[in-house]
Amino acid sequence: MHELSIAEEMVEILVGHLADYSGSSVESVVVAVGDYSGVDPESLRLVFPFAAEGTPVEGSELIINTIRVSVKCLDCGERTDKISTPLCSTCGSRNLEFDSGRELEITSFDISTDKK
Ligand SMILES: [Zn+2]
Repeated sequence: MHELSIAEEMVEILVGHLADYSGSSVESVVVAVGDYSGVDPESLRLVFPFAAEGTPVEGSELIINTIRVSVKCLDCGERTDKISTPLCSTCGSRNLEFDSGRELEITSFDISTDKK
């Protein structure tokens, strides 16, 4: 599954950050997922615990912020928040500029360091 490899990548990034804080674990993760990122938020939520299993990220809360698409056509100037193909719905141009909607990134995360 596509989302699983993305979740694994996120876990890897988080584990990398944790290297600076020994004995710490991740409590919660906030990720931004654009409507045009090609990632299904529900699938990501579903597979995240599997990717986190056995790592300090295990048991953390995944908070997904979906980002609406905002795209501007550089040829005709049309701006839209609805896009299903990488083409301008008005003039058919591929010359599109995404202001938002393609995000797929960890926005922030909380670390718990009080393990005794
Ligand atoms: Zn256009």
